[in-house]
Amino acid sequence: MRKVIYLDHAATTPLNCDVLEKMKPYLCENFGNASSIYQLGIESRAAVDESRYKVAYALKCQAHEIFFTSCGTESNNWAIKGIAFANRLKGNHIITSAIEHPAVKNSCEYLEHNGFDITYLPVDEFGVVSLDILKKSIRKNTILISIMYANNEVGTMQPIKEIGQIARESNIYFHTDAVQAIGNIDIDVNDCKVDMLSLSAHKFNGPKGVGALYIRTGTNIDPYLHGGSQELNRRSGTENVPGIVGLGKAIELSTIDIESKNKKVLTIRNLFIGAVIRNIPNVFLNGHPTLRLPGNANFFFQGIDAKYLATILNDEGIYVSNGSACSCNSKSPSHVLLAMNKTEETALGSVRFTFGEENTEDEVNYVVDVLSKVIEYKRKNP
Ligand SMILES: *Cc1c(COP(=O)(O)O)cnc(C)c1O
Repeated sequence: MRKVIYLDHAATTPLNCDVLEKMKPYLCENFGNASSIYQLGIESRAAVDESRYKVAYALKCQAHEIFFTSCGTESNNWAIKGIAFANRLKGNHIITSAIEHPAVKNSCEYLEHNGFDITYLPVDEFGVVSLDILKKSIRKNTILISIMYANNEVGTMQPIKEIGQIARESNIYFHTDAVQAIGNIDIDVNDCKVDMLSLSAHKFNGPKGVGALYIRTGTNIDPYLHGGSQELNRRSGTENVPGIVGLGKAIELSTIDIESKNKKVLTIRNLFIGAVIRNIPNVFLNGHPTLRLPGNANFFFQGIDAKYLATILNDEGIYVSNGSACSCNSKSPSHVLLAMNKTEETALGSVRFTFGEENTEDEVNYVVDVLSKVIEYKRKNP
C-alpha cells in the first residue's frame, strides 16, 4: 500500500476503533427500536440515554438538554430556523458572521428570502468578529445571534464568552456552531452562556451521520422534524442507536484528556508552520497567529493555484483541502478569506492543512519537503 498522509481532519476524522467496538452490538444483535417497550427496545433506550449523559458531561449541562440529530448541518438548520419560527412575533432580526459554515450561512439566506432580516457581521483580517460592531448591530427585534466557535477553514476562534455575555444582557438567544471546537477545546456551555450549540460526531473520531444540538432549558424553539415525538417531541425520527452510541463514546474519548491531546496536535502543527515559513519563500499564514484551533494551518502560496497544489499533493499521497471540504469543488473563492479582506488571488491560492493526533514529525518533514519542491518547480514553470 502506498504511503498516505492525512492532513484534512477538519473535513472528517477516522473512526476510533474503540468507538466502533462500542457501536457493533447495536448494529446487529441489539437492533431494537429505542421506543419499543420490550427488553430489546429497553436496551436501546438505555444505550441512547447513556450517550446523552456522556455528551452532557462533556458540555457540562443536563442530559435532557441534549438532542440527537443526523449531523452538524441538521443541528445548525434546526437551531436557526427553529428559533426564527418560534419567535417571529417577537422579532425578525438575526445576527450572524460573514465567515460561517454553509449550514449556518445558507440557513440564514433561506430565512432572508422568507421575511427575516439578517446582519452578517464583518471580521478583521484574522477572522475575528468585533464585539463593538456586534453590540451596535443589536436591535429591539433581534431574536438570535449565531456565531461559530471556531472556523473550519482558517481555524480562528471567536470571543465566545464575551459574545454570550452580550447576548445574555440583551436577552437574545445565542447559538454557536461548535462542530470544529468539540474535542479540541474544553467547552462549558454555562461559562460561554450559549443557549444552543451544534456538534457532529465525525469531526471527533466518531461515525458520520450523527450529531447533536444542545438546547438550554427554557429555550423557545420549534421542532425541525415533525413525526413520532422522539427526543421529547422536539426531533422526531427513530433514533440512530449505533450512531448515537458512537457519538457518546467518541465525545468521551476526545474530551477525557483534552489538554494533552491539544498539546500533541499543537506541537506537530507548529512544527509544520515553522518549517513551511523557513523553507518556502512568499507564503502567508491565513487566520489568527494564536487564537486558532490547535490542528489548523492555512497557507497562501503566492503564484500557486490551490486546487492544482492539492491535486499534486494527492498524487504524492498527501491529503489536504483547498478551501473547505464543502466548497473545494466550486471554483468560487472562499467567502471566509474574502470576508477577511483577502484578495481573490489569495483566496484561490490558499490550502488548508488540518492535523490530528496520529500525525507525526516524520510526516511533517516529508510534506514540507514535497511542498517546497512542487512550489519551486511550479513557480519556475507556471
Ligand atoms: C463539518 C462542519 C459542519 C457540518 O457538519 P456535518 O455533520 O458534516 O453536517 C458544520 N459546521 C462546521 C464548522 C463544520 O466544520
